[in-house]
Amino acid sequence: MATEYEHEVIIVGAGPAGMTAGMYAGRSMLKAVVLERGAPGGELLNTEVIEDYPGFEHVLGWELAQKFESHARKFGAEFRTAGVTVVRKVGEMFECECDNGDPPAAHALAVESELGREEIEPLPDSSSVTGPAEQPAPVA
Ligand SMILES: Cc1cc2nc3c(=O)[nH]c(=O)nc-3n(C[C@H](O)[C@H](O)[C@H](O)COP(=O)(O)OP(=O)(O)OC[C@H]3O[C@@H](n4cnc5c(N)ncnc54)[C@H](O)[C@@H]3O)c2cc1C
Repeated sequence: MATEYEHEVIIVGAGPAGMTAGMYAGRSMLKAVVLERGAPGGELLNTEVIEDYPGFEHVLGWELAQKFESHARKFGAEFRTAGVTVVRKVGEMFECECDNGDPPAAHALAVESELGREEIEPLPDSSSVTGPAEQPAPVA
């Protein structure tokens, strides 16, 4: 179902994986929204200093998180503060329920968070969903 929040791609979670997905979606000219329940950065925000990321001999976790975010934004990814509670497929669209009442919908969904089975309603095998291997969502 189309809504005023319709995007081509919804990405759940703005950790390194979600922000990378946002960057590539934007670079592919897809209108992407990254939904993050807290501040963008994920586990990077719990890491003071990173010394093993190629090209960065010494970078603060929050600093690298900001670089990831601005890089994704540069290519057009939109960020919203929203905790996703449920994702489901409705016709050709994926819809999310969020704790802030936002009802984003899109043609594709990437789950880059620890959303569990109970939050993802059963999806057909042909659904355009990517996500961690332990998730029920199949890879398109
Ligand atoms: C202490 C520590 C040190 C580390 N040090 C290094 C290091 O030096 N080098 C290295 O390469 N790796 C390091 N790692 C590993 C690295 O942090 C992780 O591999 C990386 O953060 C994983 O990224 P991710 O995007 O998959 O997940 P995460 O970083 O976990 O991001 C997931 C995001 O999804 C959000 N989210 C979750 N559920 C929802 C929901 N329902 N709705 C909306 N948003 C949601 C979370 O808030 C979070 O922002 C370290 C990890 C830890 C814990």
